[in-house]
Amino acid sequence: MNVEDIRLCPVHGYYRGEKCSCGYEGELILESQKVEKLGRLVSGILRHFPDRFGVKMDENGWVSFNDLVRAVKRRYRWANQWLIKAMVYSDAKGRYELRGDRIRARYGHSIKVKLSDYPLCDKEVLYYGTGEEEAHRLLDIGIKPVNQAYVHLSTTLEKSEEVARLRTDEPIILEVDAKSALKNGIRIVMANEHIALAEEIPPKYILRMIKL
Ligand SMILES: [Zn+2]
Repeated sequence: MNVEDIRLCPVHGYYRGEKCSCGYEGELILESQKVEKLGRLVSGILRHFPDRFGVKMDENGWVSFNDLVRAVKRRYRWANQWLIKAMVYSDAKGRYELRGDRIRARYGHSIKVKLSDYPLCDKEVLYYGTGEEEAHRLLDIGIKPVNQAYVHLSTTLEKSEEVARLRTDEPIILEVDAKSALKNGIRIVMANEHIALAEEIPPKYILRMIKL
């Protein structure tokens, strides 16, 4: 995926790419190569290996923002809290949540986090994109996390297709009956407006396969 520069529009704040949505070409804050490095490290610490950097994480995935900044600066001396904030605020995928003096990843964890303070899913259906062979397997065994702690579901067909196309040319989308699953005690939470998380989706909640 293409990583873009971070720039600052005096009216709309941090954004990614050449021009702000208003058309103004803002001041360069961080060039794309460094955005990519910083993003990999920050998401790595918040999703996969806080221990490796001596960063303490609570059960809901929160870490102290100052601890994170310190850890990042040990690897990249050019980094600072302002650049990390610029990266968080310009992230269109809603990967991070910065609240007061704490920060966490909203999704993508491989370490076990509880996410007990996430809002419950309020969608009727959710979508999960995969390849054809895998789709048939999931109809039998249900959707389970692979390399991550949670199954990541999309709130729209379009988003699930986007994700699936990264891995396969012929995506199959599974439509999930989120409403019934929730009613029957399967915990599904919203990571952001596009992504819902669940420990697993049993096969009976897969409504249909959509071939694109
Ligand atoms: Zn603007």
